[in-house]
Amino acid sequence: MQRQLHTKTKISLLVALIGLISLLPAQSKRFQGQGPTPIVSTVSKPIQKQWKGDYGFMEDSVIFSNDFEGGRLNGVVQSNDSTYTVLITSENTPINISPWYAFTVESKKEREIDVVLTYQETAKHRYYPKISYDRNNWKPLDSINYTEYDKGTDDFGAGSLAVSVKLRLKVGPQKLWVAGQELQTSQDVNEWITEISKNDYVNHQTIGTSREGRPLEALTIGKAKTKRMVMVISRQHPPEVTGYLAMQPFVETIAGNSQTAKKFRKKFTTYVVPLMNPDGVDNGHWRHNNGGIDLNRDWEAFEQPETTAVREFMKERVAATDGKFYFAIDFHSTWDDIYYTLADKFKGNMPGLVPKWLEALKSELPGYDPNIRPSEKTIPTMVSRNYFYEAHGAEALVFEIGDNTDREFIKKKGEVSALKLMELMLELK
Ligand SMILES: [Zn+2]
Repeated sequence: MQRQLHTKTKISLLVALIGLISLLPAQSKRFQGQGPTPIVSTVSKPIQKQWKGDYGFMEDSVIFSNDFEGGRLNGVVQSNDSTYTVLITSENTPINISPWYAFTVESKKEREIDVVLTYQETAKHRYYPKISYDRNNWKPLDSINYTEYDKGTDDFGAGSLAVSVKLRLKVGPQKLWVAGQELQTSQDVNEWITEISKNDYVNHQTIGTSREGRPLEALTIGKAKTKRMVMVISRQHPPEVTGYLAMQPFVETIAGNSQTAKKFRKKFTTYVVPLMNPDGVDNGHWRHNNGGIDLNRDWEAFEQPETTAVREFMKERVAATDGKFYFAIDFHSTWDDIYYTLADKFKGNMPGLVPKWLEALKSELPGYDPNIRPSEKTIPTMVSRNYFYEAHGAEALVFEIGDNTDREFIKKKGEVSALKLMELMLELK
């Protein structure tokens, strides 16, 4: 009897093990999300500014440059006739592994060169290189011209990255732009703000100033008196361009001409701070603002002017309208598309909105299964989502887009997300 049980146990263990193994590949392919956020001080600390200018190699008349906003290139040495090794370093440490780089390269004669990207200790190569001849139209470097060294074997995170990479580039008199992600600097954002503000019902205003003196701009979509409000922010983290690329169509759809958008703007006003960290973006920072701080850890202590400006703006809006924020969203980028939501136990001003919305997205985008990671904790607030919920009762989430998510899909997702959200909020109001 005992023996038989033993055998049975063995068999069931084996079955369980086989079951588990068969599940493993599917599970490991999905990004599991980041762990809990550790509590950190957000009092300013020093940052290292990069030297800006041209790195010229006169014998070969090859010139590298980082002399533009959003660029990051911290050193170039020539390793042999046709190979240049580039160093990319961060504004300070400790820091996330999101080494952002951007530089131009040109040569008097048409020629092919190899550029090896190297990073400071503990950092690795993360962003697949994009190239452009006009700074506006970007395409990924052809994979035939891309070599990775010492690549990790994980699907996501630091363990998936290469230590360094080699780019084979065709250079000539026409300036070639090379960047970790498409350049979207404060100048580009301001052009977008100007464009979208041409609509009668869209206005913009400066709500504060960054540490380095750049204006923090906010859009108002709808009437300033409306009591029902929505808050949108993006780009707390400079290299997270794909999150910004989703925010744009999302906001454009709310400001668009659909019947839903027109109805929505009668009931709700949407406020947007599209560029939370203009200093970090223009200086090519990997993560922090000019106070050397991760802004998305400062929504408790409010030591930094960028987060403080948004806090004061939202308070002022509530006081001026006697209204409420029903929904708030913060756009970011990470290893893969993911939604950091709040657990169902947190009931804000429109309970159930976020889960219903994500469910609606699933049915609207065929084959799309949203990766949702609810948080069980909102205190200390530290991150924007928790602050929006705790201070305003807004149904809040972090909308993360993968670094490499297809740009067309990002656009579609941004548009559909806004449409479905407006429909639901009109229904639930
Ligand atoms: Zn982020």
